Amino acid sequence: MLPYATAAEAEAALGRAMTPAEALWFRYTAGVSDYHLYCLNILFLFVVFTLAPLPVALLELRSPAAVAPYKLQPRVRLSRAEFVRCYKDVLRIFFVVIGPLQLVSYPAVKMVGIHTQLPLPSLGEMAAQLLVYFLVEDYLNYWIHRLLHGEWGYQKIHCVHHEFTAPIGFAAPYAHWAEVLILGIPSFVGPAIAPGHMITFWLWIVLRQVEAIDTHSGFDFPFTLTKYIPFYGGAEYHDYHHYVGGQSQSNFASVFTYCDYLYGTDRVSFSFTQRPKGSTKK
Ligand SMILES: [Zn+2]
Ligand SMILES: [Zn+2]
Repeated sequence: MLPYATAAEAEAALGRAMTPAEALWFRYTAGVSDYHLYCLNILFLFVVFTLAPLPVALLELRSPAAVAPYKLQPRVRLSRAEFVRCYKDVLRIFFVVIGPLQLVSYPAVKMVGIHTQLPLPSLGEMAAQLLVYFLVEDYLNYWIHRLLHGEWGYQKIHCVHHEFTAPIGFAAPYAHWAEVLILGIPSFVGPAIAPGHMITFWLWIVLRQVEAIDTHSGFDFPFTLTKYIPFYGGAEYHDYHHYVGGQSQSNFASVFTYCDYLYGTDRVSFSFTQRPKGSTKK
């Protein structure tokens, strides 16, 4: 909660006039507790899990011919019931694990120094922190994911996420509850190393989930802006990991490809359309 009763007090403390963004922040959050602001993450995640996969899913279900050229595993056609079943299972994990985890993790967020105060961070500061969060999470996620492909980890936990051998956007957060908990840890390490404003933290959580949904979309559209991000893995890269499934010992990275490249587990430029007939699973 901001320690100012009026905008004038806030500007006196800043020693300057508030920017339009700061004035908005003051207007809508001055009387709201930090805990409630942090809990908005639950709402943001719910909206992202529900809406972000929807456009591609609707395209796939209603106009399959229009998107067929871009589908990574064209022989796999999921029914509407399978889409709905996936979304329902994700919501169950969301309300049983993800939501409660957000509610109880606030003390850790407060302890590492994530704050809601003025001044707001500059765009450059936010971009630098987000880059750190992505790189740290990517590195830790790579090793945890690789460990989960050991015999015990795969059979007991990670096989749930791999039920979709041809992933869809709704399946990005589809996983065993233990995997949701374990892979939640790397998401907090970056913000703990370089703590910033709550807005940056919200943005981090949303961007990371949107990225995961994009990576699991099952399509490789030519006009995707992420193609211009250096070392960005993308849908084809991760789709191949799902295609191989339990035996997969490659393409572990969640966002970038540098870890797979460094540790010799990268399988790039795999063309799904050149597979022998009948090789597509499911
Ligand atoms: Zn995997
Ligand atoms: Zn996946």
